Amino acid sequence: MAKNIQAIRGMNDCLPEQSSVWQFVETHIRRVVASYHYQEIRTPIVESTDLFKRSIGEVTDIVEKEMYTFEDRNGDSLTLRPEGTACCVRAGNQHGLLYNQQQRLWYMGPMFRHERPQKGRYRQFHQFGAEAYGFDGPDIDVEMIVMGARLWRSFGISDKVSLQINSLGDTESRERYKRALVDYLNDYFEELDEDSQRRISTNPLRILDSKSEKTQSILERAPSLDDYLDDDSKAHFEGLCKRLDTLGINYQVNQRLVRGLDYYNRTVFEWVTEALGAQGTICAGGRYDGLVQQLGGKASPAVGFAMGLERLVLLMQELNSQSNFEKNADVYLTSLGESAELAAFKLAEDIRDTFADCRVVLHCGGGNFKKQMKKADASGAKLAVIIGENEVNTARYGLKYLREDKAQETYDVPSLLKRLGEVLES
Ligand code: ATP
Ligand code: MG
Repeated sequence: MAKNIQAIRGMNDCLPEQSSVWQFVETHIRRVVASYHYQEIRTPIVESTDLFKRSIGEVTDIVEKEMYTFEDRNGDSLTLRPEGTACCVRAGNQHGLLYNQQQRLWYMGPMFRHERPQKGRYRQFHQFGAEAYGFDGPDIDVEMIVMGARLWRSFGISDKVSLQINSLGDTESRERYKRALVDYLNDYFEELDEDSQRRISTNPLRILDSKSEKTQSILERAPSLDDYLDDDSKAHFEGLCKRLDTLGINYQVNQRLVRGLDYYNRTVFEWVTEALGAQGTICAGGRYDGLVQQLGGKASPAVGFAMGLERLVLLMQELNSQSNFEKNADVYLTSLGESAELAAFKLAEDIRDTFADCRVVLHCGGGNFKKQMKKADASGAKLAVIIGENEVNTARYGLKYLREDKAQETYDVPSLLKRLGEVLES
């Protein structure tokens, strides 16, 4: 027998059983972004490798070891997108959406990173992200956070996620802080974990979110980022906190929050949960005021976030039973004989014309009524319609209640549609 071909490690199929949760999540996301009047942008999954090198940063985890990079047949270096922000900026610059304008955008789709697959961490995963351009105040940062909070409410998971915020300051204050941090850490070089030793010369800020306990204990007495903030960034951060306080959004200031990508400045934030073990960040974002210019556009302030949908789905599945997401069929049409089958086809289309949201299954594949009713029952439908030769001749069809102890009824087509409407609404 031929060997079965398997999916690529870390890249998941989404089977019908899971797609109901995904659809639930996606529907709510679309509804919420629309209520803030954000507009969707769709960009290709493949981009020039340079785009990510120049934006995310050469010495980040993503660019150093996680990108799916390949040469195409022309010898160009291409990369499967590991994240959406750089793509959004590239498209915005290319089509003149950013210069001297304000934009509120969102995207949703697959991202690719060659990481070690584990719960909540995959090689193809999905993000929903929002990005706003042309706004430099903390008000828009707050809007991003408020939108996140609304999403958690609509998913019923508000009490499972909490918000952490920090400010990275401007480039200069960050450079000053980096130097102070490196000076301090060099005194403990031998005691740092291996990754952190390497990062001292490449990306020292990343040491702050090292997972090593030893490193974290050394960091306890390290210089603190907020002592190095420039005045404007301080005022920006105060403006952010004040608004969050007024709106009643709880948060924790986390001095160690620095984010993995190079392009962030000022506000950074993460929504985290304790319900998923090590992969606890379900949404992360911040300001990246320098990126638009860095990628060749005219300078424009920018802020955004990205949400990991697999982690969100995992969380929803842990908190809810599957039946909360599944949608059964509504009506199952059975028929016996050629003319009855045609009548059933026609009726199925009539029902779909009348009730756009009604889930109608037309029995296919023949068999006697007993077999067909078994299928009807398994579909989860509330109602079955029965059309035999007799029903065709009298133009009155049988209606059977599959979930109620109720006698079968007969209706002509207009009254059947009316009755369907009543039952579907109840
Ligand atoms: P982590 O620290 O977990 O590696 P990150 O800082 O690399 O996350 P971002 O680049 O900020 O993550 O991406 C935003 C969100 O996308 C993360 O908070 C997470 O929810 C999700 N995410 C990132 N990488 C993966 C992955 N490999 N598999 C599933 N979800 C992911
Ligand atoms: Mg990562």
